[in-house]
Amino acid sequence: MSAQPDSEPQRLFFALWPEPALQQSFFEAGNILFKLCGGRRTRRENIHLTLAFLGPVDTGQLSRVQAVADQIQLPIFSLQFDRLGWWRHNQVAWAATSETPRALLDLVKSLQLGLSQEGFKFDDRRFAPHVTLLRKAQCRESLLDSEPVSWEVRAFVLVSSTLHPDGPHYTLLKRWPLA
Ligand code: ATP
Ligand code: MG
Repeated sequence: MSAQPDSEPQRLFFALWPEPALQQSFFEAGNILFKLCGGRRTRRENIHLTLAFLGPVDTGQLSRVQAVADQIQLPIFSLQFDRLGWWRHNQVAWAATSETPRALLDLVKSLQLGLSQEGFKFDDRRFAPHVTLLRKAQCRESLLDSEPVSWEVRAFVLVSSTLHPDGPHYTLLKRWPLA
C-alpha cells in the first residue's frame, strides 16, 4: 500500500513567534550564554516561546485544535525578558521574564482549557515561560544579568515540528492575532 502522508500525525505546539529582528536579539543573548556554558545553540530562525505542546495530532483533529484557538479573544501584551538562566535538570539555558503578565497566563490557560476539552493532556507543573537558547549547556551560575529584550506580542501561532538529525524543523501553520 502506498504511503498516505496526509494521514500521518503531525507533532504540534502553540507558540509565540518573534519577528526576525527579535529572534536576532535573543540569538545574541544566546551567544553570551554559549560562551559561558557551551552546549548547542537554538538556530536563530527556530527561536520561540512554547505556550502549549500537543505532541502528535491526527489530521482529523486539526480543525478542532484550530477551533480552540479561534475562540480566544485576548489583548496584545508586552514581555520584558530581563533574565538569562540555566536549568540543571534538563541542561537548558534560556531567556525569561521576571514578571509574567496576566495576559500571557490567560492565553496559556485558555489554550489548555480548550485543548483539554478536546482530550489533550497537560502536566500540572506550573507554566514557566521561557525562550530556549541552549541545549546540553553546563553553566556555573543559574541566573545571569542580561540586557533586557522587550517583545510586544501581537499574535500566537500553531507550529508543526519535524525532528531531524540537525535539529527540529518548524513550520508555522496558522497565526491568530491578539486584539
Ligand atoms: P528537540 O526535541 O530536537 O530538542 P525541540 O524540543 O525544540 O527540539 P520539539 O520536541 O518538537 O522540538 O518541541 C517543540 C517545542 O515544544 C519546544 O519548545 C519544546 O521545548 C516544547 N516541548 C516539547 N516537548 C514538550 C513537552 N512534553 N511538554 C512541554 N513542552 C514540550
Ligand atoms: Mg523536544
